[in-house]
Amino acid sequence: MGIFEENRRLEELDKKCIWHPFTQMKEWLEEKPMIISEGRDCFIKDIYGRWYLDGVSSLWVNIYGHRKKEIDDAIKEQIDSIAHSTLLGLSNAPAIKLAEKLVQIVQRSFSLKSEIRSASGGPKSELCKVFYSDDGSTSVEVALKIAFQYWKNKGIDGRNIFASLNNAYHGDTIGAVSVGGIDIFHKTFEPLLFKTYKAPSPYCYRCELGMDYPGCNLACLDKMEEIFKANPGEIAAMIIEPMIQAAGGMITSPPGYLKGVRELCTKYGILMIADEVATGFGRTGKMFACEHENIVPDIMCLSKGITGGYMPLAVTLTTDEIFNAFLGEFKDLKTFFHGHSYTGNPLACAAALTCLDLFEKEEVLKNLNGKSKILEAWLKEVLNLRHVGDVRNIGLMAGVELVRDKETKEPYDWAEKMGWRVAYHARENGVFIRPLGNIMVIMPPLSISPENLNQLLKVIKDSITAVTES
Ligand SMILES: *Cc1c(COP(=O)(O)O)cnc(C)c1O
Repeated sequence: MGIFEENRRLEELDKKCIWHPFTQMKEWLEEKPMIISEGRDCFIKDIYGRWYLDGVSSLWVNIYGHRKKEIDDAIKEQIDSIAHSTLLGLSNAPAIKLAEKLVQIVQRSFSLKSEIRSASGGPKSELCKVFYSDDGSTSVEVALKIAFQYWKNKGIDGRNIFASLNNAYHGDTIGAVSVGGIDIFHKTFEPLLFKTYKAPSPYCYRCELGMDYPGCNLACLDKMEEIFKANPGEIAAMIIEPMIQAAGGMITSPPGYLKGVRELCTKYGILMIADEVATGFGRTGKMFACEHENIVPDIMCLSKGITGGYMPLAVTLTTDEIFNAFLGEFKDLKTFFHGHSYTGNPLACAAALTCLDLFEKEEVLKNLNGKSKILEAWLKEVLNLRHVGDVRNIGLMAGVELVRDKETKEPYDWAEKMGWRVAYHARENGVFIRPLGNIMVIMPPLSISPENLNQLLKVIKDSITAVTES
């Protein structure tokens, strides 16, 4: 079969057999699918040999580019030993070494800096226990279940409810959706979801309270405190995406907000869960987003960047204080009854371990500075465009909010697919990006060269102009 026939066959078979995530399949079936056959550095290649800049890091996971030799080698080496064995009642070397390394990095990154004590009022928080799972959503489920059972195991009843934010995104499993706050994704499932308390989103451009920063004095935190105060002894944990609500629209929180949340959780004895699934591993310019405001959560979720975008893997980190509450006699049933088939997968752990070595060796954080500056200068320029209402970034995570009317902030109708039209235009010009509604997301691999970053930004700006001003 010729290459051309083979490509056609793949396109037909895709439409025949695959149900794509977050995709209106009716539209998909009417269009020509883009099928990726290869990757190299910050580029992905389709089956026709066209190369595209990977402007969203293959959905926010890639750090070092594609086909990174060290990671390729680590996986090949591990596969010669064993691909998978279970972590239920067994252990494996890559999972052990990775856990040690993660704890070292987490502690070096921020436990020594923080003055804030854990929710229990005990000693300074130290995230030192690693619970493995497979993706961001499962790391969140694990965090929620650990927080819930923690109180039960301590003999404290009544803390049965979680607090979270409007515009939050924590994954697509039912528990994660329950603490989510994006109506378009989550509303349908409402009858299935458990009860939560929702605090305002720190979305300054479209403030729910109709106020302006900094004159507002972070009034959204007062609303959160009202919830905590009105429901004493009811809330098990507050879950938050630190510094930036990513899937909610790249919504960066104003200075002091995250620290304020930590202080409120401590004041009301509520566990704080930091969902760093998107922000972890350097995306925001620091190893973890919590470091920006020198806070330590009681529980932290990590996934996306952990394997550099190679394999599904996630961890939920907790303090000793929480871990110890699960210790008891076999018959006491304090055990955490949770685990997945591929928990602690040796191939994924070997990839992650190599990534953490690379992170230090290649001085990823140091090299990010210049690139964040390029991005920020570009965002300033783009804000001058007629249909750009707001620009936001932290490190190499950025959003450009398109609006129909800049004066009134009137958004484009969701159904107009303005973000997608810009993205398709960029694709025609060799850049792959994926918007969130009217928000253009820019999140390239951290290893992108300044030249490629400039090229990426140029194409996106040209596409915004071409589509919104035509
Ligand atoms: C992507 C994301 C998740 C879900 O991760 P999956 O790997 O897609 O399940 C959870 N939380 C945040 C903050 C995310 O960005």
